[in-house]
Amino acid sequence: MNLTFLGTSAGSPTAERNVSSIVLDLRQERGKLWLFDCGETTQMQMQKAKFSLAKLEIIFLTHLHGDHVFGLPGVLTSRSLMQNQSALTLIAPKGIKQLVETVNEISYSWLTYPLNIIELEENGIVFEDNQFQVEAKLLQHRVPCFGYRIIEKDLPANLDIEKLRQDNIPMGSHCDDLKKGKTITLNDGRIIKGSDYLGNINNGRKLAILGDTIACEASIELAKDVDLLVHEATQEHALAEKAIERGHSTTVHAATIAKQANAKRLIMTHISPRYNLNDNDKLVNEAKNVFANTEIAIDFATFRV
Ligand SMILES: [Zn+2]
Ligand SMILES: [Zn+2]
Repeated sequence: MNLTFLGTSAGSPTAERNVSSIVLDLRQERGKLWLFDCGETTQMQMQKAKFSLAKLEIIFLTHLHGDHVFGLPGVLTSRSLMQNQSALTLIAPKGIKQLVETVNEISYSWLTYPLNIIELEENGIVFEDNQFQVEAKLLQHRVPCFGYRIIEKDLPANLDIEKLRQDNIPMGSHCDDLKKGKTITLNDGRIIKGSDYLGNINNGRKLAILGDTIACEASIELAKDVDLLVHEATQEHALAEKAIERGHSTTVHAATIAKQANAKRLIMTHISPRYNLNDNDKLVNEAKNVFANTEIAIDFATFRV
């Protein structure tokens, strides 16, 4: 799976950074895209990054501040013009239903596909199927704001083909049973246990995508042992007081959460418009003093998980 940042600016866009929006590209895993936050211009950014609106399966919003939601009406209504219609799920804090219905009513817009809206008011599992589980927890911001923990379920172990070959076990339909760990009898009478020929279980990947927040316990819980953590870092650490006052984090706060959670990798985003891309090294170095495996997102950067 890949994570592509479509917007990385806090509050308002700059000439270099658009506002918050991240695509979790699951086309390889399930043929779909998940979107996290939907700031203004998200649909144009998606086109530039070659992501089709038709492939969207779920939109998760962290909170309803404008820089995370003003792109939503355009994304929803333009999607109605696409050829391959499929249902879309929208998961966001309470209030999103009223926002979508009001915009559609006043602008005489309508959707041509089923939109399933799930409004969040408390912590819990917000999505689960045989492949993924997504958990949401309330963070600490000026308005209700959630972070998401995305868990890919472990994939079954593959058969150890080399070992089968060494033991002269022919390939064939019985391999499906061996893969399930069953015991089979070969034509030559040998009894073979599947469990003797299974490799290691493929561990599912884990990531956390957090919304705007000050450093808090819920962030550590969501990011526990993840392969990749996306955390906001609105300000440099010298402006910690200002950041906290507005419900935001600094570079050092983000790095501290990554360290406390034992995350493997940190990507910082939601960067104040006061900084330009030339400030990236300075911001990353502040965080690296606390958590070495830190990077800063720029628009259209893609990270492989
Ligand atoms: Zn924001
Ligand atoms: Zn906010």
